[in-house]
Amino acid sequence: MANTNAAKRAQELKAKLNYHNHHYYVLAQPEVSDGQYDELMQELRRIEEANPELVTPDSPTQRVGAEPLPGFSQVQHPVPMISLANAFNDNDFMAWHRRVANLLERDQFDMVCELKYDGLAVALTYQDGVFVQGATRGNGLVGEDVTQNLRTVKSIPLRLLNSDVPSRLEVRGEVYFPKSEFLKFNDERIARGDEPYANPRNTAAGSLRQLDPRMTASRPLDIFIYSLGYVEGDGLPETHAQTLEYFKGLGLKVSEGFRLVHTADEAIDFYKSWLEGVEKIDVAADGVVIKVDRLDFQQHLGIVGREPRWAIAYKFPAVQSVTRLEGIDVNVGRTGSINPFAILEPVIIGGATVRRATLHNEEYIRSKDLRVGDWVVVERAGEVIPQVVSVITSRRTGEEMPFKFPTECPSCGQPVVNPEDEAANYCVNASCPEQLVRLLEHFVSRNAMDIDGMGGKWGAILIEQGLIKDVADLYFLKKEALLEIERMGEKSADNMIAAIAASKSRPLARLLTALGVRHVGSEVGELLARHFTTMDDLMAATDESLTAIPSIGPRIAESVVGYFANEGNRAVIEKLREARVRLEDEPRDEPAEQPLVGLRFVVTGRLERYSRSQIEGRIKELGGAVSGSVSKRTDYLVAGADAGSKLADAQSLEVKVLTEDEFLAMAGGT
Ligand code: NAD
Repeated sequence: MANTNAAKRAQELKAKLNYHNHHYYVLAQPEVSDGQYDELMQELRRIEEANPELVTPDSPTQRVGAEPLPGFSQVQHPVPMISLANAFNDNDFMAWHRRVANLLERDQFDMVCELKYDGLAVALTYQDGVFVQGATRGNGLVGEDVTQNLRTVKSIPLRLLNSDVPSRLEVRGEVYFPKSEFLKFNDERIARGDEPYANPRNTAAGSLRQLDPRMTASRPLDIFIYSLGYVEGDGLPETHAQTLEYFKGLGLKVSEGFRLVHTADEAIDFYKSWLEGVEKIDVAADGVVIKVDRLDFQQHLGIVGREPRWAIAYKFPAVQSVTRLEGIDVNVGRTGSINPFAILEPVIIGGATVRRATLHNEEYIRSKDLRVGDWVVVERAGEVIPQVVSVITSRRTGEEMPFKFPTECPSCGQPVVNPEDEAANYCVNASCPEQLVRLLEHFVSRNAMDIDGMGGKWGAILIEQGLIKDVADLYFLKKEALLEIERMGEKSADNMIAAIAASKSRPLARLLTALGVRHVGSEVGELLARHFTTMDDLMAATDESLTAIPSIGPRIAESVVGYFANEGNRAVIEKLREARVRLEDEPRDEPAEQPLVGLRFVVTGRLERYSRSQIEGRIKELGGAVSGSVSKRTDYLVAGADAGSKLADAQSLEVKVLTEDEFLAMAGGT
């Protein structure tokens, strides 16, 4: 009989791990770092090893992932999709190597070392060489059918290159979100008042599990294939290294960085060689996977619980550091959210100096019991916004000060409220100056109304001078009033008025994004515009009609309905109407009008007929994606005069280059 303390602790740990699994795998919103999760898991393992009778089939040590989400149909995996055992230091790794050597009854065996990409495992099935099904790992036995979404990942071939393939071939790989794109994506979320995703992995998971494949298509997902799943037919390679080469021959994307090694020391060298370099590549990786090379050896070693005995994940240490929390301050976001952040004694973590860290909201500060003056553990995972992970309470002196969340807005002094079901606090004042400054910055930004020359200081000055009290006032600005502002010249005033006027004809999606409705960024803006086509129809929408649209959940619906129920907001729309800002789109035929789905563009140089952002807008309207720099994944560079380095990049990477006219022809005319 296990002692009762162990049984009680195991129970607690199981409950905690299950809770975190749900947040990580299902909600894609983890509350603890992977390091902290791994510690809990190790503790449970230790207890279960000492008390085997405590191992239950539902223990997190025995299970992979989480239940598939409702909303997708389910896929039974013919061969379970498993997890990997972890090593955290050389000793763990050497112990694994010795165990395998004993089981194989030989000292030496070849291994393949690969990076452990931090994404989401999927299984791709090819029937007679044609991609017929894609599934997530789910709980390892049953996953979600995400075929339509995976079809939008360009590096997944819809047909294999070689015609001589097994009749049914299932391969497995990791879908990931490139780090550079992740940073941009999170910036957008923050600007929109949404919580940033914790890391590229959660973002990949969220992107792949969109109910609307067009949403997935707009995200720059990529994949590496790393193993065979299920095969009908023969003629397959005999080792893992040969399998990876075989995959390449089929046109599947395999990471080039794998290495065949003969000894444990060589495997450790491979791991060490990545310790620093891993920050520099555009894929997040959280360790190295070492696999026994010969497939017959793999077969012989088999699987125990949720982990194969023939492979091990040697994890990279989390990038953490300890520093002092010097203060907590708040700023006002454009939706009026009051955002707390930590002011830290500067500390270098993973090569970058960290001075600030997000604290998300009041609840986050309370749950961690953060006090000013505390010593705290700060983590920076990849390029992600630094997080305060925990407090070192043993270093407290008693001088630390608990933080009192402001009850008044630091900008306008109006009350701060905490709406039910929301973690964030908001300033109640719709015309709060700082909120308006942020909103105006957003309104004129490139992804929104794209008003040239209005970014930076001018917005704040116009608000300060009382010329702008809401975003619609922009359209009523008079040149004479502008000229009264210090340092505003005749030419600047003319340019500003012209840029504002030019923005009146932006597509509805842009305007919807620009308004700063909570949870409505450019993706949701596009969806709403596509569905309703006129502002009036959208204003009349109900919770039900909104949630009937795939990818629109109750949170977005409530926010949209709430926005238009507000009198002040309706008045803004009426002023926009009066100023003849475009409030409707031409009705569009779908999906025939989305010829660019799945294609990535970069636009550069001086164009003749349209502005760069107009061309980019057109690309997005037609379902394509736009990025800022040319990479191997770019399909087309649209280049005007003086295109410069992007053109050179495109030429060296053999990316197709289009003139403006060629693009317009491709986009279906002018
Ligand atoms: P894992 O991430 O430890 O390893 C298994 C997975 O690695 C495979 O399923 C596959 O998707 C992936 N992989 C990447 N590259 C690979 C390669 N070259 N070859 C083979 N596989 C490769 O296992 P897991 O079960 O997905 O997740 C467990 C880990 O997730 C934990 O160790 C923890 O770090 C993290 N986690 C964190 C939380 C949290 O709340 N923070 C919750 C649950 C899990």
